[in-house]
Amino acid sequence: MKHRLWEREFARLIEAFFGGGSVSLLSKGRVALYAGLRAMSLPAGSKVLLPGYTCMVVPSAVQYAGLEPLYVDVDPSHYNLDPALLAQVPAQNVAAVIVQHTYGIPCDMAPILAWAAARQIPVIEDCCHAFGSRAAGGLCGTLGAFAFMSGQWNKPFSTGLGGILLVNDAALAGRVGRLIAGEFAAPGWMRNLFLQAQILAYGLVVRPHTAGRITRLYRFLTRWGLAIGSSSQAELAGIMPENYCLTMARCQVRKGLREIARIEENQRHRRLVSALYQRRLAEIGFAPLSIPPSIAGEDAIPLLRYPVRVANKPEVLRKAEREGVEIGSWFEVPLHPAGTRMEDFGYRDGACPQAEAACREVVNLPTHRGITNRRAERTLQFLKRVAVPAAL
Ligand SMILES: *Cc1c(COP(=O)(O)O)cnc(C)c1O
Repeated sequence: MKHRLWEREFARLIEAFFGGGSVSLLSKGRVALYAGLRAMSLPAGSKVLLPGYTCMVVPSAVQYAGLEPLYVDVDPSHYNLDPALLAQVPAQNVAAVIVQHTYGIPCDMAPILAWAAARQIPVIEDCCHAFGSRAAGGLCGTLGAFAFMSGQWNKPFSTGLGGILLVNDAALAGRVGRLIAGEFAAPGWMRNLFLQAQILAYGLVVRPHTAGRITRLYRFLTRWGLAIGSSSQAELAGIMPENYCLTMARCQVRKGLREIARIEENQRHRRLVSALYQRRLAEIGFAPLSIPPSIAGEDAIPLLRYPVRVANKPEVLRKAEREGVEIGSWFEVPLHPAGTRMEDFGYRDGACPQAEAACREVVNLPTHRGITNRRAERTLQFLKRVAVPAAL
């Protein structure tokens, strides 16, 4: 019974953070997207627009809901869906558009919302990178019909895997509630135990200088069924896993309560580190982000990761892991992770050239609370020594 109280408390705190809406707690971000799409009852086989610069679990959730992903390229100045390209999309048979606030950078929402409103197409926000980023029109997550967030290890805050669905429309929230009550189950004690063990292990062993190697070990353990991973082999091949429709486990809710209690501090830290990278990258010869002011307010954005374009990405990643410098690689391919059979998810090679170029060149720098000024500076010195700035 206590679990129910914690769940309600966690959901209420998230609703308060966003100033409204209705929150459901689920097992993963992708599952939150799936639940939201199902509850919308869109016509079977209709198309859902999304950026070709995302995780494969996003188009797979679209497909599980009986819909078809259709990819739109990104604008390289902010790595988000390029609204100018919407005009070229044949609007018939498009039932929804998913916008993703990549790295925590808000999307250019005004033209997207206008395009969607003119066609009465609902907008869905992928806030898996953006908890607390503010777009010109308001907080990311509050601008569309619903938003989904991830509590996976590398997200704005972690529930040790986990997903949050924020619904901004009362009628849709009612349908989501009925869907979850009817088709979703709570994880059993075994899964809860595994997740709890992983949350503890993660807290003990993952540090910026070990992150690369631990990630490799985690993938290995997952493959052999010794840990609960982000995606199973079946899922990578586009098959819906049998334990997909789960709600958030109790240990995840408890972790979430601890995280949401310090969300302000989390955001403040990410803002400071983002601003530090912004200032110092230019000084060491790399192009800093240049986000059009019409997209974001004047405040520093609490980025999840700071993207940097380099001409020698594979070498940078290899040496970073060897030297224990935490540098990320999202996205390696338009539908992360590398090795995804993208044609299974309706992505044709060359469909999103800007995204493909970004996949070849972008590495990303962490902003989480393990990144002290000294560590950030060490990362910058590493880049200066090893990375070659990409030609603009
Ligand atoms: C991580 C991520 C997801 C999926 O989140 P899960 O909790 O792993 O399902 C979706 N979209 C983006 C942009 C992500 O980074």
